[in-house]
Amino acid sequence: MIKTGIGFDAHRLVKGRRLILGGVPIEHAMGLEGHSDADVLCHALADALLGAVADGDIGMHFPDTDPCWKDANSLDLLAQVVGRLKTRRARVVHVDAILMAEAPKLAPYRQAMRERLAPVLGVPVQGVSIKATTLEGMGALGRREGIAAMAVATVEVADGRLTTDARRQSGEDERLMTDDGGRTADGGRRMTDRPSCARALRRAGGRRLTEEQRTRNQERIFQRIPPCLSRFTTP
Ligand SMILES: [Zn+2]
Repeated sequence: MIKTGIGFDAHRLVKGRRLILGGVPIEHAMGLEGHSDADVLCHALADALLGAVADGDIGMHFPDTDPCWKDANSLDLLAQVVGRLKTRRARVVHVDAILMAEAPKLAPYRQAMRERLAPVLGVPVQGVSIKATTLEGMGALGRREGIAAMAVATVEVADGRLTTDARRQSGEDERLMTDDGGRTADGGRRMTDRPSCARALRRAGGRRLTEEQRTRNQERIFQRIPPCLSRFTTP
């Protein structure tokens, strides 16, 4: 099934910050203010991807109160979002984004941004469209007070049920937290799709999992995130 999501982000331009857009450093006297590297393009794309699978927004998953994300590279954040999609059996098909900035001229960086983003999104460069426009001097963006980005993501979700991890993450299926021998209430099809999970359920001995067991399961999910990102996720 094909799904789409929309994302928008804006950050204020300030002196003394590097300007990073789509993971590419841009030559400019000012940079975007924010807790992370304030890469509006990555943030709009991440929200579009989360929107396509109705999985909240980046503010929810990567709060700016979290010191882990201080000055973080937003490509890492984007990679984590792509990882969340994978647990929902979703893959990115195509993204289309538009940067809104009066200055600097962004067209010369467009190809570099596409090439930087494509491997993170897991698509060929042709699957990444980046456009840029000015605001013709209108409003705050036109007065060069900030830069904004808008994005649309198209993702393909494989048929069938969500993976166990995705159901746990979303809290969609509370029954997974109980020991039902991996079977549905009517004794039917196995609910779990991994032996380790079935073992964990058996260990719970017919009771709901304790908080400690839930945490351990959550850690197992984190362990499957690539090592380069683990510093953001390891409790
Ligand atoms: Zn942002």
